Amino acid sequence: MNALAPRAIDLLIEGCQVVTMNETRDIIRNGAVAVDGNTILDVGKAADLRARYAPRRTIGGDRFVVTPGMVNTHIHITGEPLTRGYVPDDTPFIENVFEWLTPLYSVFRADEERTSGQLAAVEMLRSGTTTFLEAGTIRFLDEVIDGLVEVGIRGRVGRWVWDLPPEPSVYRQSTDQAIAHLERQLDEHASHADGRIAAWSILVGHNTCSDPLWRAAKALADERGVGLSFHMSPAMLDPESFIAEFGQRPFVHLAEIGVLDKNVAVTHAVRIDDTELQLLADTGTSVAHCPTTALKVSYGITQVGKFPEMVQRGVNVSIGTDGNNASNYSDLMRATYLVAGLFKDARTDPQMFPAEKAYEMATLGGARTMLMQDEVGALVPGLKADIVLHDTDRPEWRPLLNVMNQLVWSADGRGVHTVLVDGKVVVEDGHCTTIDEERLWADSQRMGEAITARSGLPDKAKFPIW
Ligand SMILES: [Zn+2]
Repeated sequence: MNALAPRAIDLLIEGCQVVTMNETRDIIRNGAVAVDGNTILDVGKAADLRARYAPRRTIGGDRFVVTPGMVNTHIHITGEPLTRGYVPDDTPFIENVFEWLTPLYSVFRADEERTSGQLAAVEMLRSGTTTFLEAGTIRFLDEVIDGLVEVGIRGRVGRWVWDLPPEPSVYRQSTDQAIAHLERQLDEHASHADGRIAAWSILVGHNTCSDPLWRAAKALADERGVGLSFHMSPAMLDPESFIAEFGQRPFVHLAEIGVLDKNVAVTHAVRIDDTELQLLADTGTSVAHCPTTALKVSYGITQVGKFPEMVQRGVNVSIGTDGNNASNYSDLMRATYLVAGLFKDARTDPQMFPAEKAYEMATLGGARTMLMQDEVGALVPGLKADIVLHDTDRPEWRPLLNVMNQLVWSADGRGVHTVLVDGKVVVEDGHCTTIDEERLWADSQRMGEAITARSGLPDKAKFPIW
């Protein structure tokens, strides 16, 4: 065999610019990514890669900016996508969670959760997100995983547990039941579809867990080599309740019982003090920043949030879009835009979260939160072929003069043309190729109407509808 003969590979992806997010953050003009199987084999100038490889298929071209798939580190794929927008946008936090969201979650059926998970996955893929971390709303894990495997996204999922009231009856468990549930979930869902989908140790968080449950969930995460995720301190309710119960703020207490660590992903962390901030930094705990929820549920993120300080002290901060009633879209590009902009204005400081930093949080930061930095988040040989092609033949993409500014400040998920997960095309020409989209829209509408009717919650639309 001729040693100089081009090597046969599955796929060559070409673009006018390839945003690698590699160690030196190289952006390659007239670049290409060589893919074999589910892995990135090579990244470089298109002319060089064309000479080196004989691809069975070539996609992309001058019209496309090629980037890694983004990583959404907090989203409720069930419970909310099929009730999106039903909850009024003027409900206070406690009413929002306990009078609207948890009653809605509790009336879902298995087939509805499956469809909900697919709707969320399709929305993420079509807007350039290839990996996500589920918040834990899922009750029918088998059905939801089956639906996710069909769509072809990558994610870490689970059903959250808690053992302290108040909780809707469908979630009620004793401490022992909750721990056994987590254990079983990790056993049964250690890996699906070559590891694309797997379970994590997931708690609701807030003030809903006893110390034995906190400790057990962390121990299980350590034992199984997975992460632990939970919500904490979006509003004052959590600090107030921890201080009343333990005389300590939440992250001080969690650090004391050994729950903060490098394999822990905390969502929100808005109402924290300086001691808690330092504990997050010292323990290597990751934080999922959900700017869209903060805006809609009035967390005061720009007034009291310490996200700039977290980044300055080395906390890994990634981005999430949360639930569709508190953040009605799952397009991480739009959330990344907010991350870049909110603190520039709040602190009257243009140095806050440059586009490049915001995009790192949406890719590399997300991969680190999900303990997947050796698998996703960049276009680097050896990583999984999770790749997005943005179509620049669109008004918001032209002229293309500074690609990072364009990605964060101009573009959003509508410009996503083609998406690959594990080397497989799952979105082509803006449409998901793995499932019947028309049927998904129809099922989502029918089920959304049925779920809201079954919940008995009133329709609070303010304008007259006739
Ligand atoms: Zn959440």
